[in-house]
Amino acid sequence: MNNNPYSKLFEPVKIGPVVTKNRFYQVPHCCGMGHLRPKAHAAMRETKAKGGWGVVSTEEAEIHPSSDLAPYVEQRIWDKRDIPALRLMTEAVHKHGALAAIELTHSGHNSTNLFSRIPAMSPNAQPVNFLYPKQSRRMSKKDISNFRAWHKRAALNAKEAGFDIVYVYAGHGMSVAQQFILPDMNNRTDEYGGSLENRLRLTRELLEETQEAIGDSCGVAFRFAVDELKGKDGMQFKEEGRAVVELLSEHPDLWDVNVSDWSNDSQTSRFEPNEGYQMPYVEFVKSLTTKPVVGVGRLTSPDLMVKLIDRGALDLIGAARPSIADPYLPNKIKTENTDQIKECIGCNICVSSDNFSVPIRCTQNPTMGEEWRRGWDPEHIKPKLSDQQALVVGSGPAGLECSLQLARRGYQVTLAESKSQLGGRVLFESGLKGLAAWKRVVDNRVHEILQKNNIEIYKESKLTSAHINELEIKNIFIATGSKWRKDGVGRSRRSPIKGIESVKVFTPEEIIQEEQNIKDPVIIYDDEQGYLAGVLADHLSSKGIDVTFVTPASVVSPWTESTLEQKRVQKSLISAGVKIVCNSLIEKIENQTAHLECVFTGAITELSCKSVVMVTERIANTSLYDQLNEQKVSNKPHSIAQNIRLIGDAEAPGLIADAVFSGHLAAQDFEATETDIEKALFMREMPSLND
Ligand code: ADP
Ligand code: SF4
Repeated sequence: MNNNPYSKLFEPVKIGPVVTKNRFYQVPHCCGMGHLRPKAHAAMRETKAKGGWGVVSTEEAEIHPSSDLAPYVEQRIWDKRDIPALRLMTEAVHKHGALAAIELTHSGHNSTNLFSRIPAMSPNAQPVNFLYPKQSRRMSKKDISNFRAWHKRAALNAKEAGFDIVYVYAGHGMSVAQQFILPDMNNRTDEYGGSLENRLRLTRELLEETQEAIGDSCGVAFRFAVDELKGKDGMQFKEEGRAVVELLSEHPDLWDVNVSDWSNDSQTSRFEPNEGYQMPYVEFVKSLTTKPVVGVGRLTSPDLMVKLIDRGALDLIGAARPSIADPYLPNKIKTENTDQIKECIGCNICVSSDNFSVPIRCTQNPTMGEEWRRGWDPEHIKPKLSDQQALVVGSGPAGLECSLQLARRGYQVTLAESKSQLGGRVLFESGLKGLAAWKRVVDNRVHEILQKNNIEIYKESKLTSAHINELEIKNIFIATGSKWRKDGVGRSRRSPIKGIESVKVFTPEEIIQEEQNIKDPVIIYDDEQGYLAGVLADHLSSKGIDVTFVTPASVVSPWTESTLEQKRVQKSLISAGVKIVCNSLIEKIENQTAHLECVFTGAITELSCKSVVMVTERIANTSLYDQLNEQKVSNKPHSIAQNIRLIGDAEAPGLIADAVFSGHLAAQDFEATETDIEKALFMREMPSLND
């Protein structure tokens, strides 16, 4: 370890009465498991502890039914009945020598209380932070003292559940303590409003009372957003953000600092490519306190981590997404296997799962969220059951993941790709403006594949059923992807658009490959309503092409709400001069004029165009699969293939994360008996009938 250039990252750090074994700190992050799926939650956090994280935290933990985050699934510590479920996590984390932290949260007007039906409450009465016509009520003095009592009780219950670090939370626009601090959320005239000292009163009380309650044996962490990235309209790290740190500098045992709101804290690589992007905001904190400081910013590179410690920016390397993409990141650094790190690509699919209230998933790490229900682990996979060989056709994310995992199991794998480069759709998408980091999905896998001696790769090899018969391999995984259709059929219309022959129609890939043939004005027609059409509009407009974005949706790329990007997407198109026409279908095209139909009234407006990029729907490439199956069913004499499995976009087009997952699942399932597959389909946490 002494010669390890990263040994500094493995020094212990004291956090109040507890000591973390190293500087790797998994900060609180949501996961769509929470109080509903405690076993899944404990197993997911345990994998991080197994992977070497010194501290492993929960997500937000609601401390009282007056702060109920439904429909989101977060953690709960309303009363003692929550302790056994939480203890599952602390025990699992402790088994591997890590500390367990809990983020106690009362969300003020950020909770809608749709489950508990108790009116939300916050410093001021105001609309709740969720599109629902409800408002919070203003907290009375009695409410404030109740809230302090609930927080203290939750801290005591957290200690009983085995937590080592307990948070006071004032970040992300998601906590009542932060709402008291921010002047635009707090217009009170009593001792809790007005001056900064007054607005900080509640936080100070919470810190003192938490210390008093559990500080003898637990560290008290303060999570504070030093800046809201709103300029003078919000908290700024050079103004009140700094003043808060000065006023409370020695109060907590640990400062966990970041920027607010969540869309700023968890920025995607599309809009913030730099690792460590929060450092300019949070670096000042260490100069104002003797207590340890943790910060985040998609920190994945061990060299940068060491630099941050050396230059006194941080004491602890905080991570949510890098720990999701690679739970074993600390161990890989410790053993100097840094080339094996699965690097977060900053796509926020993990965030989207929380926003959809389903268990967390990750593009880079298909085992994320599957630790308990499928028994998966990113570094361990069951060994092969026989000496059978496998052929994987197609090297997109599904084919690469499937090949890699089959090889990790010990099977001899042949991987065939018709193009000259491995990577499939990822090569195309990562070449678009803002998506360069997505290439890591391919690079990380290809790097590992090249180190294996049981994968043979054939590039520029477009396989037919005849080739496959010649190869004499019985087990075939078809990962041949999908193609975009050009006729306008999609989410909003199931019949082709009339008259599209009168203009040049491109698929997303073609518009990039044939850039020299583009005649503007171009319409990008987005009836998929995901991310791709918005990325294309950004990409083409940056090349000076005249683009109009037409969509039946009411905003640009509505799905990107779930990845916290939608506002940035729309802002970027507006700033680039892209014309945006929402709520409109292309009804027909005549004489280089698109007839746009209002989705509400049917009224028609006209828009001239020379080219149209259709981003509506994909068709799975199943012809090879169909031929092989047909041979098998008709039992043709030359037919060799016995086990033929369609995976990835060829099975059902979706996200890159879906394709990776599909490839992984197929490799895990290979040679499993029906019963095994049924068993794996998958464990569920059944509701307890106890009250
Ligand atoms: P997925 O997302 O499911 O992995 P992709 O579209 O990214 O799918 O990748 C599919 C890959 O399969 C592409 O790189 C494509 O060139 C390759 N491919 C398609 N058909 C064949 C074939 N018959 N033989 C070899 N490679 C193929
Ligand atoms: Fe990173 Fe994307 Fe995985 Fe989230 S889903 S951890 S952003 S790679």
